Amino acid sequence: MNDRREELAAGLDAVRARLAAAARAAGRDPGTLTLVAVTKFFPASDVRLLAGLGVRDAGENRDQEASAKAAELADLPDLHWHFIGQVQTNKVRSVVRYAGSVHSVDRVRLADALGRAAAGAGRELGCFVQVDLAEALGLPADSGRGGAAGEEVLRVADAVAGADALRLRGLMAVAPLGVEPAAAFDALARTAQRVREHHPGALELSAGMSGDLEQAVAAGATHLRVGSAILGSRPPAR
Ligand SMILES: *Cc1c(COP(=O)(O)O)cnc(C)c1O
Repeated sequence: MNDRREELAAGLDAVRARLAAAARAAGRDPGTLTLVAVTKFFPASDVRLLAGLGVRDAGENRDQEASAKAAELADLPDLHWHFIGQVQTNKVRSVVRYAGSVHSVDRVRLADALGRAAAGAGRELGCFVQVDLAEALGLPADSGRGGAAGEEVLRVADAVAGADALRLRGLMAVAPLGVEPAAAFDALARTAQRVREHHPGALELSAGMSGDLEQAVAAGATHLRVGSAILGSRPPAR
């Protein structure tokens, strides 16, 4: 356990140093960056160790796993759970019980369902509209990973903004495979500019993972979703 704590501390230090350097290079204040430690696949005990190392934000992508960890760690009141995976509509009532933010809102029906569930639970939920960058980059739609494309992005943002229990934080994206991350995140930043013409408060950008967090910071990311660089490698995608 002590060994694991040291491993996690080393991973966290390295990522924080990368973020600080990237912020400096971009002329940005590192204090404006939120590091979301993506703990999927790793046990609740790791999340507890990370919390002891100052982590306040944890990211998960599957409701079953996330709800179990959140229940096990209910004694850590400062921990903010970010849901970053595709949300099935029949899972929203569970997700709003523990999640403070959902980064993967990619359709109007999901926004509506989250809005009703959050209101029913008496909670406010931060929402990021997930953008499928493939279309903006002239690639075939990246249907496997979710995300709204084209005009749909604004329609989803409108639906979030129109729900009392939801707060529109901004946009989220994953850089598509085979594309320069810098080009992908620039496309996300341009999309965000268009959304802000209608929703000036949607100032946040969830972008950047272990392999491309520098490019994300350069493009204006505010929420970095970092897993393996902190926790080590996971088994291949499930
Ligand atoms: C798993 C995951 C991450 C973290 O990826 P790493 O490469 O391990 O940093 C970030 N975002 C999403 C949406 C993920 O599913």
